[in-house]
Amino acid sequence: MFATKFDYQKASSVSEAIQLLASNPGAKIIAGGHSLLPMMKLRLTSILMLIDIGGIEEMRGISVANGILRIGALTTHAEIADSHDVKDNAGILWETAYGIGDPQVRNRGTIGGNISHADPASDLPTVLKVMDAKFTIQGTGGIMRGGSRTVSADDFFLGPFETALGENEILTTIEMPVLAANQHAEYAKMAHPATSFAVVGAGIVVTVENNICTAARVAVGGFTPIPTRGPSVEQALVGKELNEENIVAATSLIHNDLGSDVFGDVFASAEYRQAMAAIELKHAIYHATGFAHHN
Ligand SMILES: Cc1cc2nc3c(=O)[nH]c(=O)nc-3n(C[C@H](O)[C@H](O)[C@H](O)COP(=O)(O)OP(=O)(O)OC[C@H]3O[C@@H](n4cnc5c(N)ncnc54)[C@H](O)[C@@H]3O)c2cc1C
Repeated sequence: MFATKFDYQKASSVSEAIQLLASNPGAKIIAGGHSLLPMMKLRLTSILMLIDIGGIEEMRGISVANGILRIGALTTHAEIADSHDVKDNAGILWETAYGIGDPQVRNRGTIGGNISHADPASDLPTVLKVMDAKFTIQGTGGIMRGGSRTVSADDFFLGPFETALGENEILTTIEMPVLAANQHAEYAKMAHPATSFAVVGAGIVVTVENNICTAARVAVGGFTPIPTRGPSVEQALVGKELNEENIVAATSLIHNDLGSDVFGDVFASAEYRQAMAAIELKHAIYHATGFAHHN
């Protein structure tokens, strides 16, 4: 099927893109197009004007300074998977980027588009939530007039395909603290065999001191409306040695945190995905702590 007719404008700066959005009701921005174009072609959405932000240089690139890893929203999955800065400072993100879709998707799809689209089956919302990421959003006020705000990953995702992005706003930057030497992070997923989208995805960041877990962030996604933190699991891990018995006991508590809105489909039922969440969390912690490699 073909998309309905639309106009097209290319923006060369963030402020121009915001201005085009504000002056063209019914317009939408396009980054890599790997989520938006399929929706347009299936006529799940119809758009009057596409504003192409793909050429905006200020929205690209990866850097590390003062303990913060900063990634421009237009950075592609392939660029993240190819970055030593990401590998050295946020290995969980580096590895996840490798597992997204196929080379074509990784070469065109962007981190900003992935997050803004907020598909519950995407990997990056779950990973950025456990990494305690912050998102910079710019809007019509202009950066000098207070038009820039920061939203944490915990507050950004509001529902399936729904985020804290307001009208005429653009996500420009993703920032996260670099992992310390005593922090271990991992993402494990049960991937859909056709697309690699997460049927169940689980991310963890644990801090270990003198063999004891002193802090933990846990999130699961793929089968819940938004990536879901696991406070029951986090509390059960803290203060414990990360041995097999304690990891299995803690991860089995994830069902307490999922709520009633768990997705299922012909591929995998809600009950199955819920059971797999504990398994994928266990895998993630086993790998993060090296337990998987020694036992
Ligand atoms: C076959 C296939 C397999 C895939 N497999 C996976 C997978 O395994 N894991 C996974 O996580 N993802 C997967 N994806 C999704 C992929 O990661 C896309 O890159 C991502 O969903 C969208 O990025 P994009 O740059 O293409 O966004 P676009 O399609 O250009 O835009 C998507 C939406 O976000 C908005 N948007 C884009 N950029 C911004 C911005 N900077 N600020 C505000 N709004 C913005 C657009 O207006 C649009 O509504 C897959 C996609 C395909 C087609």
